[in-house]
Amino acid sequence: MPEIIFLIFTFFFGLIFGSFANVCIYRLPRSKPFIWDRSFCTYCKKIINWYDNVPLISYLNLNGKCRKCKKKISLQYFLVEFISGLAFLLIYMTNHGVLAKIVLAFLFLVYLIIFFIDLKHYIIPNVLSFGLIIFAIIKNFFPNLGLNFTQNLEISIIGGIVGYCSIWLIIYIYLVIKKTEGMGLGDAKLMAGLGLLFGWQAIPFVLFVSSVLGLVVVFPSLINKKRNLKTEIPFGPYIIIAGLIYYYFGKYLYSLILFE
Ligand SMILES: [Zn+2]
Repeated sequence: MPEIIFLIFTFFFGLIFGSFANVCIYRLPRSKPFIWDRSFCTYCKKIINWYDNVPLISYLNLNGKCRKCKKKISLQYFLVEFISGLAFLLIYMTNHGVLAKIVLAFLFLVYLIIFFIDLKHYIIPNVLSFGLIIFAIIKNFFPNLGLNFTQNLEISIIGGIVGYCSIWLIIYIYLVIKKTEGMGLGDAKLMAGLGLLFGWQAIPFVLFVSSVLGLVVVFPSLINKKRNLKTEIPFGPYIIIAGLIYYYFGKYLYSLILFE
């Protein structure tokens, strides 16, 4: 019985951080002064009452509409909160130590925020990508956390460099052939962060899987001619999903390919 109370508490804790993530997703790309103050409706700018700002519940209660102007509130607010609650619950239920759980929760939140900002605005704020890079270097000096990240400084640093250069090279080749930028340096910094976290071995996997995911999603609209290859697509979300797959299955998949 007390265990259930802990689980419910953890889920709500995740919801609160999800709510905070929503504030970051809204404000960071708009370079608004960063304070976690009262939320307001993005249409009518009126302050949202506290009872209309309860994670998940208010969205359902208001049927996804602002109480004052009745404009639709983006489903993203609900999704981000729900995913956060669920992720905190899953992280809590792993048998990692406290520090490892805090590390996972922190990384989850930063990647979640990048995911939605890039999806909407096609940018990855430097404060987030550099934050990840600095964190991924520092974690090499932590005691062994038992997570699927490398804590070998050499492999980590090489990973960062290989990650950055691989995207830089793609941008360069694309620029020469298509005379346009296919990706931004934000993607390069994101890949550098992943390389530092996982080590260089992750880069070929993440590059391959994110490209396949990108193609699968973009391909239908290419056929419908709604897009052409020159249309910008946000690549960050695919890199993040590929990184998540690598975290859970990377070592296993590599052992299949290399017959280790
Ligand atoms: Zn409103």
